[in-house]
Amino acid sequence: MTHQEIREKFKNFMEARGHAWISSTSVVPENDPSILFITAGMQPLVPYIMGEKHPQGIRLSNIQKCIRTQDIEEVGDKTHDTFFEMVGYWSLGDYFKKEAIQQSFDFLTKELNLDPNRIYITCFEGDENAPKDEESSKLWQEVGISEDKIYFLGADSNWWSPGETGPCGPDSEIFYDMKGGLGKLTHDEFLEADERQDIVEIGNNVFMSYEKKDGKVIGELPSKNVDMGGGFERLVMAAQEKTDIFATDLFKGMVDVITSTSGADRDSREVRIIADHIRTSVILISDGVHPSNKDQGYILRRLLRRAIRIAEKIGYSDFRPLVEEVSKTYGDIYENTRNVNLIYSVIEAEEEKFRKTLSKGIKEFEKKTNEGKLSGTDAFLLFSTYGFPIEVTQELAEERDISIDMQGYSLEFEKHQEQSRKGAEQKFKGGLAGHGDMETKLHTATHLLHAALHEVLGEHATQRGSNITSERLRFDFNHESKMTDEEKAAVEEWVNDKISRDLTIVLEEMSPEEAREAGATGLFGDKYGDRVTVYSIGDVSKEMCGGPHVEKTGDLGKFRIKKEEASSAGVRRIKAILE
Ligand code: ATP
Ligand code: MG
Repeated sequence: MTHQEIREKFKNFMEARGHAWISSTSVVPENDPSILFITAGMQPLVPYIMGEKHPQGIRLSNIQKCIRTQDIEEVGDKTHDTFFEMVGYWSLGDYFKKEAIQQSFDFLTKELNLDPNRIYITCFEGDENAPKDEESSKLWQEVGISEDKIYFLGADSNWWSPGETGPCGPDSEIFYDMKGGLGKLTHDEFLEADERQDIVEIGNNVFMSYEKKDGKVIGELPSKNVDMGGGFERLVMAAQEKTDIFATDLFKGMVDVITSTSGADRDSREVRIIADHIRTSVILISDGVHPSNKDQGYILRRLLRRAIRIAEKIGYSDFRPLVEEVSKTYGDIYENTRNVNLIYSVIEAEEEKFRKTLSKGIKEFEKKTNEGKLSGTDAFLLFSTYGFPIEVTQELAEERDISIDMQGYSLEFEKHQEQSRKGAEQKFKGGLAGHGDMETKLHTATHLLHAALHEVLGEHATQRGSNITSERLRFDFNHESKMTDEEKAAVEEWVNDKISRDLTIVLEEMSPEEAREAGATGLFGDKYGDRVTVYSIGDVSKEMCGGPHVEKTGDLGKFRIKKEEASSAGVRRIKAILE
């Protein structure tokens, strides 16, 4: 069964069960600057999971392009990529556990012909928020999974909750015995087999059953959703009877090229990392990302530079045939990957840049290492002068058994960031920022509006959606009734007061946990991020957000609400402008 056949089977199977097929979005989020990449199929669907009506109905399905940079350390094992495709289906207030479990099971065993005896299941064991999910376990037994292949695990692995307020619920993961023959496993043996990647998670059904408010489950949702996410590469691996994703037809062409020219071993980390990073780079470039020093562009640059360095290490150098292989595999599915010349020219330009400094940088690295140590300042020098992303320096160090003063490096890095921030400020003051000024201002105004709504309407008035054009901001939030004229005036007045106080906006980077502890309001989806940026406006607002923002609220002008209307049940929408 080829990967193309598996794609078609999935689409046909879901459509036959009444699901509307929706296409994958770009890997770069279209409406959410607080995250760099789409990391799960449900992400672009968040508004609909929160209650907005989807134009295509209440049963949806797709295969979504995802990027998880937080898995970069894992790449090289049997089952993780930085880019992967996620198969998904959603029931928005329609069918629930019984149908979802039957559906997963039928697709795996009847369409992909997986062996039901090699399937293992995990369910939620229960805690103070919700009871043990006996129901899902029973349903799995009804379709034919034996009770001793069902394991109950805690909230850290089998509970889905994206934030302090909103839907949450238990999930049920599906694992597959990759080699076959594992048979019955005790709870501990199951966990060990997972650790060894002898059994692999291929999919997960999330049952959004409960409602959370300020961190506590307050009851069951009136309308329950199912969100299933499965790893396409892993499904292909299981269907093709392979024991790692790089042996599937999604990667085989690339692996053949790298191993035949370099002589490296097909199962080596190096070969897998090069294949993964070049594949991800092709997808990024085809979605419009260019190598740069910030945001998505910097991720692309790091992937390419790491691949270049590792390729050089194993004696491989020509990326063009790899781009051709990716294009061959994905050209029919993602049209923009067809343009090999264009994509390769971007990679080639980055290679040229990095190769100029690579060997000099390695010499510098060797010169600067002293008694098995590299100082933080020198690691930073390699970054700033030779363009070595820190992971490249770390790998060089590991290979030579050298330790790096990472704390020193971070300090240098922060100092540098502070300087470049000041530089940006200077530029801004000089009026050079030009394009996108209005969007930036409206973005900051959105934070003030959010805080004002909390102030005027109450803490329940939290964000449900946001959209900004160069003309106006649009903001959706939880609130039952139409706002009165007095309330609207009070919100305008509150925001304009903060503008007139010319408050300073401050940016900090931290983990989602730290952000929550610092009292930042945050949006959905943060479960998937590793580091988040938090913007504070004086002491009136603190929000997890990707920016950009103005430096001072005095730059905003006058804030005015143009319209206040219903968006969906329990959700209001404000459109506002800056004059
Ligand atoms: P894992 O524990 O294996 O990293 P996960 O719990 O992070 O998986 P989910 O967030 O539940 O995975 O994502 C849904 C599905 O996407 C998983 O069942 C898995 O098959 C697939 N998946 C997740 N991360 C990756 C990755 N980095 N590469 C390939 N597939 C992935
Ligand atoms: Mg993971």
